[in-house]
Amino acid sequence: PELFAPERPNSMGFDLGHQPTLDAIDAARAPFRAHRWRAGPLLSDAAAPEAEEPVVNPADPHDVPGSVAAASAADTELALASAQPWQAPAAERAAVLNRAADLYETHYGEIFALLHREAGKTLPDAVAELREAVDFLRYYAANIPEAAPAGTFVCISPWNFPLAIFSGQIAAALATGNAVLAKPAPQTPLIAHRAVQLLHEAGVPRDALQLLPGGPAVGAALTSDPRVSGVAFTGSTATAQKIRAAMAAHMRPGTPLIAETGGLNAMIVDSTALPEQAVQAVIESAFQSAGQRCSALRCLYLQEDIAEDVLTMLKGAMDALNLGNPWVLSTDSGPVIDEAARQTIAEHVARARAEGRVLKELALPPEGTFVAPTLIKVTGIGALEREIFGPVLHVATFRSDELDQVIGAINATGYGLTFGLQTRIDDRVQHVTEAVHAGNIYVNRNQIGAIVGSQPFGGEGLSGTGPKAGGPNYMARFCAPDRQRATG
Ligand code: GLU
Repeated sequence: PELFAPERPNSMGFDLGHQPTLDAIDAARAPFRAHRWRAGPLLSDAAAPEAEEPVVNPADPHDVPGSVAAASAADTELALASAQPWQAPAAERAAVLNRAADLYETHYGEIFALLHREAGKTLPDAVAELREAVDFLRYYAANIPEAAPAGTFVCISPWNFPLAIFSGQIAAALATGNAVLAKPAPQTPLIAHRAVQLLHEAGVPRDALQLLPGGPAVGAALTSDPRVSGVAFTGSTATAQKIRAAMAAHMRPGTPLIAETGGLNAMIVDSTALPEQAVQAVIESAFQSAGQRCSALRCLYLQEDIAEDVLTMLKGAMDALNLGNPWVLSTDSGPVIDEAARQTIAEHVARARAEGRVLKELALPPEGTFVAPTLIKVTGIGALEREIFGPVLHVATFRSDELDQVIGAINATGYGLTFGLQTRIDDRVQHVTEAVHAGNIYVNRNQIGAIVGSQPFGGEGLSGTGPKAGGPNYMARFCAPDRQRATG
């Protein structure tokens, strides 16, 4: 099937190897170097703003990119009561979403600045994120199914893709004609607020798209209200389970929950793999975005015969990584999102250090919530109790006769999001990719950065409910069940 309308190809992004492009990006970002944004509820009717909390740059505790007023219980009630499905014909909704995509692109300087300063995203990550957000808007606009909207959709999004996943959920719900109540992650309200302003500017009616910044209390109110017809959520498996329970207690049976959750992702590198290719793929999969992707590589399996050589190369490649301020082009890895995240990851590394299992650890910048890219030796993926959401890679080895045991251990985690394989044996590609349970499988390349339209993204088991984002089945879940009418 045609997955992407040919007249609306994926966004071109920016060529960061082209000096005039870099100069243009610098000029476009410059006005936002010290700008202060404000975020708060964006409701169909104005409400009184609550006390504002500062938002702090995770790479620099002295930089305050803005402040946020969380939605009050009254704001949430107002939004629920005033939500109106978007009545415009599908072609008009598509045109508005395409206009929003164009607006995102023309505001790239401001969006990159927000992604650096609020979310700690490097320039290559920010470029990829803007592209993905724009792709979601255009892809859903181009593929609207003929069906009625479900009603009011709640969209709860994560801080690790504060623009792309935030916009993707909203775009699918709006394209299908729903009213949307969006609750962004508490760590990244500024970019969410700006995105909703641009969507309104493009023509999305204010009663069809309302923003409710805040923490778990706002989420709990929205996911336990019988006026809600569906929930799209990306975040932890534990939170998805809480949402499922709240929906079961308060909403009509069968109300859809579309959840994209965590992963414990593995890569297998056998002795026929090309070492340079494998090392590059591992560096990108484990350390890009400071390992804060649910697709990121957490456990690398190296076949024994080549393990020592590959580890030597991997450590050398890690030494070449620049840790630092995301605004600077030469930075390869930025901070983790906040102090709580830093502490959780640091405790995990400290335990491994005490047990003598740390194989390599880079030095830390003096300030900011950084975690140094780290390699930790493990016996296998079963030794990881949970997803460690940062730049920490676990490494295990296997003998050639242990491949099926390794696959068994990967499947036994119960997660099934991404998986990577590096081999030059065709039969092995066939065997391993059929045996491993994972939504997105990547062979002889990195295992992050799924492309909207051509690589629908999502997992199985503990990793999510499906349908996959950026794929042909996603929007049907945002629609009401079909009505059949028979006349006799
Ligand atoms: N879609 C992203 C990727 O392929 C990951 C999304 C997430 O981390 O939630 O890398």
